[in-house]
Amino acid sequence: MALKNFLGFLSNDIGIDLGTANTLVYVKDRGIVLREPSVVAIDAVSRRVLAVGAEAKAMLGRTPGNIIAIRPMKDGVIADFDVTEAMLSYFIKKVRSSSWANPRVIIAIPSGITAVERRAVMDSAISAGASKVIPVAEPKAAAIGVGLPIEEPSANMIVDIGGGTTEIAVISLGGMVVSKSIRIAGDELDAAIVHYMKRAYNLIIGDRTAEEIKIRVGSAYPLDEELTMEVKGRDSVAGLPKTIHVTSQEIREALSDPINAIVDAVRSTLERCPPELSADLVDRGFVMAGGGSLIRGIDRLLSEKTGLPVTVAEDPLSAVANGTGIMLNNLHLLSEEM
Ligand code: ADP
Ligand code: MG
Repeated sequence: MALKNFLGFLSNDIGIDLGTANTLVYVKDRGIVLREPSVVAIDAVSRRVLAVGAEAKAMLGRTPGNIIAIRPMKDGVIADFDVTEAMLSYFIKKVRSSSWANPRVIIAIPSGITAVERRAVMDSAISAGASKVIPVAEPKAAAIGVGLPIEEPSANMIVDIGGGTTEIAVISLGGMVVSKSIRIAGDELDAAIVHYMKRAYNLIIGDRTAEEIKIRVGSAYPLDEELTMEVKGRDSVAGLPKTIHVTSQEIREALSDPINAIVDAVRSTLERCPPELSADLVDRGFVMAGGGSLIRGIDRLLSEKTGLPVTVAEDPLSAVANGTGIMLNNLHLLSEEM
């Protein structure tokens, strides 16, 4: 892309992390100003948007027939173009002050997205008021955001476990040398917990309860002190509300399939890495980002399964947005874009 006409971002320009679970907006010189779930509630009949972000997420699984809560980016693809556009528009308007000229936008999108979907996201941002849109691959933004020196001729590896997708990439000289995007991440962990509760306890729980269990007692590696939690749901046989107690051991077992799939994806990416870069990784290891990297012990498990040093980013949920923020101030990082 010709960047000459894009030089010099203005202070109202923004970076967006359009995540499958959360959208973050970074305003140049101000930092992250918005952080909301990527959820939109619409009227089923008129398709009118009723709520966006946190307000809409609170409705997930609790809507009467006439309201539907949608996660338009759910699997790392644009499930619904109109809804994605409404969501982006709402977020961009929310951070813009009325005096601003139309902002230019750097937008980080899942690397597994097709060219058509990427075009749809860009068009959405334009109709939402952006004067210009530059798409960047999410793993690259994440790597920049966690402070990896991606422009050096060495291996910079990032593993970003989000809601809908896990993105793995090895970056050298500013470009992705090998990468992989799989549709197994936080949502699949939640689904595995829903499934386990039904199978082991005849207990029907919603996705939000499953997510809460994952965050409170979920783990990928044995804990020094195992945890327990009270879970409420509906008995699938009696049909009535019921309470049970689960342990972190059980939840770890329930999570093992999707966790193993993530381990396999990391290993297969490493297997495709050119040897000089593999050699770099022996000492440098990789950095984890995304909300899924907060699962207890996932770093330890991945380190054991790959033999590499693993660190979790200091603020994994903000890595991609921070990366777009750094790009707003360092245009050369945008040099060869998607
Ligand atoms: P995306 O970039 O796809 O929007 P995020 O990086 O925002 O995703 O991460 C969202 C995912 O992280 C969700 O599946 C959420 O349940 C999970 N998550 C957030 N906090 C934690 C935590 N403390 N432990 C485990 N998972 C977490
Ligand atoms: Mg993300």
